[in-house]
Amino acid sequence: MTAERPEVAAAACADASVIQNIVIIGAGQAGGWAAQTLRAEGFTGRLVLIGDEAHPPHERPPLSKAVLSGAALPETTRLMKAEAFEALGLNWRPSARVLRIDRAAKQVLLADGEAVPYDKLILCTGGRARQLTLPGVDQVPLHTLRTIEDAQALAPALGAGRSVVVVGGGWIGLEVAATARQQGAEVVVVETQSRLCERTVPAEISEHLLALHRAQGTRVLLGAGVSGFARAADGRSEVLLADGSALRCDTIVLGIGLVPNDELAREAGLECDGGVLVDARCHTSDPDILAAGDVAVAPNTWAGRRLRLESWQNAQEQGIAAARSALGHTVDYQPLPWFWSDQYGMNLQIYGMPAAAHRVVRRCDEASGNFVLFYLAGDVVQAAIGHNAARDLRFARRLIEQRKPVDDERLADLATPMSKQ
Ligand SMILES: Cc1cc2nc3c(=O)[nH]c(=O)nc-3n(C[C@H](O)[C@H](O)[C@H](O)COP(=O)(O)OP(=O)(O)OC[C@H]3O[C@@H](n4cnc5c(N)ncnc54)[C@H](O)[C@@H]3O)c2cc1C
Repeated sequence: MTAERPEVAAAACADASVIQNIVIIGAGQAGGWAAQTLRAEGFTGRLVLIGDEAHPPHERPPLSKAVLSGAALPETTRLMKAEAFEALGLNWRPSARVLRIDRAAKQVLLADGEAVPYDKLILCTGGRARQLTLPGVDQVPLHTLRTIEDAQALAPALGAGRSVVVVGGGWIGLEVAATARQQGAEVVVVETQSRLCERTVPAEISEHLLALHRAQGTRVLLGAGVSGFARAADGRSEVLLADGSALRCDTIVLGIGLVPNDELAREAGLECDGGVLVDARCHTSDPDILAAGDVAVAPNTWAGRRLRLESWQNAQEQGIAAARSALGHTVDYQPLPWFWSDQYGMNLQIYGMPAAAHRVVRRCDEASGNFVLFYLAGDVVQAAIGHNAARDLRFARRLIEQRKPVDDERLADLATPMSKQ
């Protein structure tokens, strides 16, 4: 799609007249939202969306769930219907890679040699799956899961009769494990830390996840280091563990985290620290370059520090915020972090940043096993985690955002609706 809008920009901001070219690098979720927001906000200038994937902007969460299981086609992950995408009048460059940002000349340089000028540049380059550099990595096929192609390559390897080792007990690893198990595969999860999702949830939730996966027949090895990989005599793969044992399997999946794609920014001299540093306006250290999504490290009042959020919510909302900010609107993007994961029949949602110092109040439905755990400082809810409790969590979110004092007993009491807290 290369249809251009001939009109000169008429953005709703003070310096609208000088913004004629906006370039977005990365046509993922954040980039897609930035593009549609720019148009929705009235930007009629040249809008170039450059992405090195062949697909139009799409969402990734289904790639480890419905797309991986075959319940949904990859096309269903698209951010917009084809007509709506067409109607944006973008200069869309699929399968095109930006090699360099030339800040002095205000242009980005593509792999094919083309230079694309910008007045404002929005970096939405996301991240890539972390790889391992251990002995034997080149001896066996190793799957990771970030793209549609990754999901398509992995899906056939997960069926009944297959054995799968998932290295990494974080969100992607656990979702892959759950999908594989539901497809009938034998699954082992190998996690170096002493508990699952150690970086993101309190120990009680890690225990809950462990029980869930073990109940479904997945072997979960905690505190288990991987020392390498090997091809077994029968042609299958082996995951070699630090204790000297080996796990033989048909398929190995690495779910060991994400590396932010911040190289372009670093090479262009923008401030980076585990991602591209931005302020609450999504501005980088160059006022004409903004960043959003998985690649951006932003201040967050709820966390009390800068952080890089890897979530559906942040990709969308920060993409929107960056677009508005590029047009000169006042933006103060500091969202209450929200993340969800679906594993087996469980929808787990996390609002805020639970911390060890928080007091926990439990609202549990013993009959169904559903629950919300509230994390409080004093009598104010700071964070909440719920299992199949989406409705209650919406009210919990309100309590957190309004910093409203609560009563522990009423919070725990199922007979007191969340709307009456
Ligand atoms: C399998 C999976 C499951 C997930 N499940 C959940 C979930 O259940 N809940 C949740 O909240 N979040 C989930 N997430 C996280 C969420 O999908 C991401 O946070 C979100 O996709 C980030 O969007 P983004 O636009 O920042 O990055 P991306 O979607 O990664 O888009 C970045 C794009 O930029 C491209 N790019 C990078 N460098 C260049 C370059 N130099 N030139 C051109 N293009 C470039 C990349 O190839 C990519 O297409 C999941 C993620 C994955 C991978």
